[in-house]
Amino acid sequence: MKKYGVMGFLVGIATCAVLLTLVAAKLSPTEPVPDRDTYFPGTEALSPDEMRVVALGTGMPSARPKQAAACWLVELGNGDKFLFDLGSGCHERLAAQKIPYDYLDKVFIGHLHVDHMGDLPTFWLGGTVMNRLTPLRIWGPSGGTPEYGTKHALDLMEKMYVWDIGTRGGVVDFRGGVLEVHEFPFDGVNEVIYDENGVVVRSIPAVHGLDGAVSFILEWNGLTFVYGSDTIPNKWYIEHSKGADFAVHECFLPSTLLVKRQGFAPLEALNVGTQGHTSPEQFGKVMSLVKPRLAVGYHFYNDFDIEPEVRKRVRKTYDGPLALATDYMVFNVTKDDIRVRMSVVDEEVWPSPALKKKNPPDTSKAISFSDFTRSGALGFPEVVGPIYDEINELYGTNYEPVFKE
Ligand SMILES: [Zn+2]
Ligand SMILES: [Zn+2]
Repeated sequence: MKKYGVMGFLVGIATCAVLLTLVAAKLSPTEPVPDRDTYFPGTEALSPDEMRVVALGTGMPSARPKQAAACWLVELGNGDKFLFDLGSGCHERLAAQKIPYDYLDKVFIGHLHVDHMGDLPTFWLGGTVMNRLTPLRIWGPSGGTPEYGTKHALDLMEKMYVWDIGTRGGVVDFRGGVLEVHEFPFDGVNEVIYDENGVVVRSIPAVHGLDGAVSFILEWNGLTFVYGSDTIPNKWYIEHSKGADFAVHECFLPSTLLVKRQGFAPLEALNVGTQGHTSPEQFGKVMSLVKPRLAVGYHFYNDFDIEPEVRKRVRKTYDGPLALATDYMVFNVTKDDIRVRMSVVDEEVWPSPALKKKNPPDTSKAISFSDFTRSGALGFPEVVGPIYDEINELYGTNYEPVFKE
């Protein structure tokens, strides 16, 4: 019997080899592989009825090379793109998508923790040198009082970066530096906060930190994307996410690991892991009530030795479709299918070309140096002159250096 088993195994191997040869024979030696298992940003068209979701920040508040803090990109087949949260470290992952920044002009902030908006300044101001020429539109919740709201926070952010803005206004086309802030009531329940081009975004309250945290529900073309931002289990998420196609909800590190791996005291771990955030078991309970087509957990260090522990705990309370996200996981969502893959990114990404013609800088906005600072500048005309000559010759211009001597 044993010998027969080995023979059977060998016959099986031989059959597989023949089948593989037949499949390989259909592949051209010169054409790309038709259906790749990996997503390469910038290489795939979206079909008109398709939604692509890219996880750009899935980790903990402090970014690490493998995982930035919270950020999710939703791209729709109608061409619209939406960003949900812009946590610390996500900007480089966003740049890796190779999307012109003018298309990335709609940002929804779920709450004002730094791991959900820490890269907003770099995306906003850095975007002005990444060829963004369209104002950046930001939606975010009010707070319990005005000083805890998004508008107040972003007013202060503009003030905080006044030096940065002062260096740019008169030097580059700064239209992309304009902020358009839309604050909406944090306690609106399933209220529409965005309705354009067949896309509706609604807001529901979240329970996290202070008054002024929300979750979002995006609806388009019969598909529903839900983004929890941060929240402990709450009635609004469960009621208004029911049956969603794609439901993202935080799924924090288990309290035991907060103690063992991150140095929390046991009471801290319980407070943070179950009363301020959602443990894997609580996440599973929420999803067992929501029953989405795909439940997506994020907001934990997703490593080879952690994921099985988190999954085991989620499975105590939920047995439906599940993805535990890590950065660069990508999801293609249609009415019939949800495909989950990982991306491979090009680390040497340059800005995409501008989508609009650039205007000359508004020199009235230029702030000049004091005589003191100016007195220290060395113009090196013998070095800089030829650089100007080169550009003037190439582009038929007649520019002169600011520092002449
Ligand atoms: Zn938070
Ligand atoms: Zn968070």
